[in-house]
Amino acid sequence: MINVIDPSKCCGCTACASICTHNAISMCPDNLGFLYPKTDMSKCVDCGLCDSVCTFNDNYDISLNFKEPEAFGVRHKNSFEVDTSRSGAAFIAFSDRILEHKGVVYGAGYTKEFDVVHKRAETKLQRDEFKGSKYVQSDLRGIFHQIKNDLKAGKLVMFSGTPCQTSALASYIGDKLRENLFLIDIVCHGVPGPNLWHDYLKYLEKNGKKISSVNFRDKKRFGWAAHKESFMFGDTYYTPYAYPFSHMFYQHIALRQSCGNCHFCNIHRPSDITLADFWGWEKTDQNINSDDKGISLVLLNTAKGKSLFESVVDEIVVVPANLKDCMQPNLQHPTILHPERMEFERIYSEKGFEYTMSKYGYIGFKRNVDVFLDGVMKNVLYMQNVIIRILRKIKKIIK
Ligand SMILES: Cc1cc2nc3c(=O)[nH]c(=O)nc-3n(C[C@H](O)[C@H](O)[C@H](O)COP(=O)(O)OP(=O)(O)OC[C@H]3O[C@@H](n4cnc5c(N)ncnc54)[C@H](O)[C@@H]3O)c2cc1C
Ligand code: SF4
Ligand code: SF4
Ligand code: SF4
Repeated sequence: MINVIDPSKCCGCTACASICTHNAISMCPDNLGFLYPKTDMSKCVDCGLCDSVCTFNDNYDISLNFKEPEAFGVRHKNSFEVDTSRSGAAFIAFSDRILEHKGVVYGAGYTKEFDVVHKRAETKLQRDEFKGSKYVQSDLRGIFHQIKNDLKAGKLVMFSGTPCQTSALASYIGDKLRENLFLIDIVCHGVPGPNLWHDYLKYLEKNGKKISSVNFRDKKRFGWAAHKESFMFGDTYYTPYAYPFSHMFYQHIALRQSCGNCHFCNIHRPSDITLADFWGWEKTDQNINSDDKGISLVLLNTAKGKSLFESVVDEIVVVPANLKDCMQPNLQHPTILHPERMEFERIYSEKGFEYTMSKYGYIGFKRNVDVFLDGVMKNVLYMQNVIIRILRKIKKIIK
């Protein structure tokens, strides 16, 4: 019977709750909104299924994997898809193919309040909501059952999520139904708590207007390599001056505790295909992303992943890469959590979003001054370089 004593050993995948036929396990939120299983002992018959389905350990299934993944830089040929996806829109090419074969696609989308949840899509229009990275843990409750029903009905199913989610799904589904299931994971830096995102949106709406759309990472305005969030209030575009959510993400102060203990930060992926931002793309091809519009790293981990890739090559620009040139940090080790991670959570639970975020300097006067000074320093350095170049030219002319 599942009993999570150490939170760093549970990623909140819902596999245990989904497999329990006695409905003995509910997924309950902690202070930051992360879900953990809670067992109702009066319903539990001690069958052990929940323990055996849990794959948040080093023994997750990689039996279908190549010895080493095949690596590629990929960009969709349709520039609209690239502009509206996080990196090179590789996900769109793969999911298009599944939908064209009357399959269904599962990915991270939104509720009406912009909380992040996994959803099911039968059409490209429904699927388009899954484009783009949502830097918060998605809620999987109820999804694994839906996927099993689709597979039992003989449908092709694609599931896209974090590797802890794909490994859990594969374990829950089992070998018999795995054939029609395509798993796509992402190289994963970690996920902040859902409550922080929810409270942040409420904080922004204190101006009296309702948010009508969100963008965790506004690539169109700031470029692929930048990380700044933006919002629409009706027709009005808004980007917070000090982009507090993106800034906080990189402090690792509100990530799930299991992200500091992640078993999937390596090249042995629990999925058919792995997607990532292709950091270091210049080592493979100097031109493929010189416009900073975005380029996906695609790792093919299984024969099934490779055959799906081969079926979309006409839709994408492909650059073969050496795996050693693609080894970014979260393919090598888990993210190191902030030393004050637990204290942050304690204060957050007692005093709420605004107090905690300003105490840690993510919102408020100090943060604004910090960003302002960063901007001034960047401009000074830029001007300094321009002046040096001009002076060099003058010297050349004088000679
Ligand atoms: C929390 C998080 C951390 C990431 N960390 C890294 C990293 O360290 N290094 C790196 O190179 N790339 C990272 N990425 C992945 C990267 O940003 C892109 O998603 C990837 O490059 C694929 O881009 P794409 O253009 O092909 O598709 P995209 O338009 O990005 O869509 C890819 C898929 O990501 C899934 N997705 C989005 N948000 C979530 C979520 N919260 N939970 C589960 N699935 C989600 C969607 O289901 C979607 O189908 C991270 C993404 C997320 C969400
Ligand atoms: S990692 Fe998943 S299966 Fe394991 S205890 Fe946590 S929610 Fe349950
Ligand atoms: S041991 Fe069996 S009955 Fe008890 S919670 Fe786990 S799966 Fe449910
Ligand atoms: S870092 Fe690991 S544990 Fe955290 S969400 Fe990503 S895959 Fe799951």
